[in-house]
Amino acid sequence: MYLKSLTLRGFKSFASATTLAFEPGITAIVGPNGSGKSNIVDALAWVMGEQGAKHLRGAKMDDVIFAGTTGRAALGRAEVTLTIDNTDGALPIDYTEVTISRTLFRTGGSEYAINGHPARLLDVQELLSDTGMGREMHVIVGQGQLEQILASDPRMRRGYIEEAAGVLKHRRRREKALRK
Ligand code: ATP
Ligand code: MG
Repeated sequence: MYLKSLTLRGFKSFASATTLAFEPGITAIVGPNGSGKSNIVDALAWVMGEQGAKHLRGAKMDDVIFAGTTGRAALGRAEVTLTIDNTDGALPIDYTEVTISRTLFRTGGSEYAINGHPARLLDVQELLSDTGMGREMHVIVGQGQLEQILASDPRMRRGYIEEAAGVLKHRRRREKALRK
């Protein structure tokens, strides 16, 4: 399983439909400051169901919709489609190629689709849940965080590792239970 392509339409600075094709292995995205590199990472988290506007570097969810520039009017919707190669069957669905789409309308509505069929957030989460992607599973190391990680003391570093391994939420739950 690997990410095959990502299409952004009206998402943040990507007003016109833009498709990025990926190959198996490591992908690097380079470009000048403000050209939209982090917006691409935001789009990836968003299409997999990210619910926190702050995690997407915005104040509210509709900040992901293209807000307009001097030469171009704001748009009414943001749409991101992720295509995953599933020839190895890692995703529990009978397709060798799987697309997940998420659309948000400025008027308020929000939609998901799996291979073009309307789906719920829960369906997307369940589809991704055994793959190391999706809710609390993939790890996005944000800009500036790397320096913070390298400069951290052993205790903090352990926290980062636990978070990446997905054990932090269990520890928090345990601490909460013990406090009661
Ligand atoms: P750097 O190298 O500095 O990290 P970057 O390539 O990661 O830059 P991004 O943070 O992805 O850049 O993009 C920032 C740009 O996206 C800014 O110009 C910002 O105005 C624009 N942008 C963010 N949200 C929207 C939006 N909703 N509508 C239009 N433009 C937006
Ligand atoms: Mg950036």
